[in-house]
Amino acid sequence: MQLDLPFLRAPVPEPAGPLLSIDFVRMRRARRYIIRVRPDGSVRVTVPRGGSRLEAARFLEKHSQWITQERARVRAAHVTQAWVDGAIMLLRGEPVTIRVVLESGHRTVRYGQRSVAARAGDTDFRRSIEADLRTFAREELGPRLHALAAAHNLTVAGFTIRNQRSRWGSCSRSGRIALNYRLVQMPPAVSDYVLLHELMHMKQPDHSRSFWRLVEAACPDFRDAERWLKIHGRGLL
Ligand SMILES: [Zn+2]
Repeated sequence: MQLDLPFLRAPVPEPAGPLLSIDFVRMRRARRYIIRVRPDGSVRVTVPRGGSRLEAARFLEKHSQWITQERARVRAAHVTQAWVDGAIMLLRGEPVTIRVVLESGHRTVRYGQRSVAARAGDTDFRRSIEADLRTFAREELGPRLHALAAAHNLTVAGFTIRNQRSRWGSCSRSGRIALNYRLVQMPPAVSDYVLLHELMHMKQPDHSRSFWRLVEAACPDFRDAERWLKIHGRGLL
């Protein structure tokens, strides 16, 4: 089964359309057109000496796909700031707002459909939220892993949720699979790909051509998922 990657498949915004705020800046010393995406998603276009606004607009049009990707990257970097009240984080690939509320005298952190007790004295709720994400990951990814394994006639020997800084998952020779709890922050189609990637390692432990053929058969859109990981993955770590 394949789910949509709503962010990647969103229509490319018209460079001059209302979605995008664009500043054209003339610079006599510039030799070429330069596009910069600011953290708020607005775009700055440097118009070189002898250049025109019309040409700048064409340049934007030509690079609209790059701009979309760059905005996604900048946005991903933005959502990983301190997890304070009002901050935005990703949950199942969707941006959700962190809210701190008082519940019968206790501070509770809410994000998406989740809620967790705030640690006394904290104003950055990362530790509380990360602990809750681990719980959520165990509940969510365990059954999903077993279901995907069964669909491919595989049996998982063991499953753990880990806090890994450098990988999304791993699969041992004996069929024990470890998954990064941050997978629950990704769109389900992307975390499914990571699960299937590890499951296919039970058939083929390396990253050879035959491994990728197995991955493609199990997850035809795996390149979209890899691309999402490339753009947003770092922001989750
Ligand atoms: Zn691998």
